[in-house]
Amino acid sequence: MQAIVLEGLCQAIVRELPDPEPARGEVVVHIARAGICGSDVAVFTGERQVEYPLVMGHEAVGYVVNPGDSSYASETRVVIEPNLPCGACRVCRRGHANVCPSKRSLGMNWPGAFAEQVSVPAEYVHALPADLDYEEAVGIEPLAVALHALRVSEVTEGDHVAVIGCGAEGLLLVQALVASGARVLVADLREERLAAARALGAERTLLVGPNERPGEEADFCAPIVFESAGAAKALELALASAEPGGRVVALGLGADAAKLVPLSFVRRGLTLIGSLIYEHPLDFQHAIHVVSEGKIRPSTLVSQTVTGLESVPAALQALATSDAGGKVMVNLDSHR
Ligand SMILES: [Zn+2]
Ligand SMILES: [Zn+2]
Repeated sequence: MQAIVLEGLCQAIVRELPDPEPARGEVVVHIARAGICGSDVAVFTGERQVEYPLVMGHEAVGYVVNPGDSSYASETRVVIEPNLPCGACRVCRRGHANVCPSKRSLGMNWPGAFAEQVSVPAEYVHALPADLDYEEAVGIEPLAVALHALRVSEVTEGDHVAVIGCGAEGLLLVQALVASGARVLVADLREERLAAARALGAERTLLVGPNERPGEEADFCAPIVFESAGAAKALELALASAEPGGRVVALGLGADAAKLVPLSFVRRGLTLIGSLIYEHPLDFQHAIHVVSEGKIRPSTLVSQTVTGLESVPAALQALATSDAGGKVMVNLDSHR
C-alpha cells in the first residue's frame, strides 16, 4: 500500500509500505476520506515532536477490508477513533483514559491514516449509519473533541458562553453550542472566521488584535468561556472574560506560558478545566449520533478538498506556511 511517511522536519513523502496485517483484536480499514488537522501540521513542522519515520494522519473514515478476528463484516463503513489509551494504568482506571500517559495515537506514535490502509483495535472503529456519507463522517473525530469540551463545561440551554479562537475546532464548538441552545459570543483575530461563526449561529463577535490586553473588553464576559486558539494571549483573554463563579475550558494546545494572576483568579472563584480529546466511547458515539441526525454538519468547515495521497505533502506545506486556517479534506478513494 501507499502511505504518507514523515521522515524528518517537513519531509512528508509518499512511500510504498507492506499492507498492514491485523494483530489480535484489530481490523484493517481501507481509508476513503481523511481530514488534515492542526495537530498534523504541528507534527509536520516539528512543533510537536514525534519519532521518524512516521505514517501521518488521524481523522479518517473508510471501510473494513480485513476484519481479523473481530465480528465486523468486510466492507462495513466505519469511522476510526484514533486515540488508544492503555486501559490498565492508574489514570485509565480512575476513568481518565483520554489523558492516559501511555496512550497510542494514530499519526503520532501509531501508524496513521494518511495511508491506503490502517490496522486499529476493533473497539476503536465505529460502524457508520447507512445514510451518513463519508464527507460528513470524516468530521466526527474533531466534533467529538468539541462535544467533550461542551460536556465538561456543563453548559445548559440558554447559557451565555464565549468562544475564543475560531479555527476549525472553534467553529465546530460554536455549532455544537448553538445546537445545544447556548447563546454564543466569539472572538478571533480574523474577520472571515468571525463571519463563519455568525453564519453558524454566533450572536455576537469580537475582532481582537494579537496584543489585545485581557480585560479591555468589559462587555465581552460570560459565565463559561472556551479557549480554542491555542495561544497564551487567548487563554489570558479567556480568564479575563469569565464572570465571577465561571469556568474556563481550555482546548488549545499552545506551548507558551500564559499569565494567571491568583488575586484575580481566586477572588472571582473561577474554575479552569483542560479538555483533551474525548471519552471513549461516549463522546464519539454522541458525535456519530448528532451528525447522522443532521443537527451538526462538520462538512460546512471544509475549505478545500484534495484528491490522492500525493496531494497531501503540498497541502501540509500550504497549511504550515499560511494562517488562513480552514479544513482540508483528502479524498483517497474517489469510487466510494
Ligand atoms: Zn485532529
Ligand atoms: Zn492508561
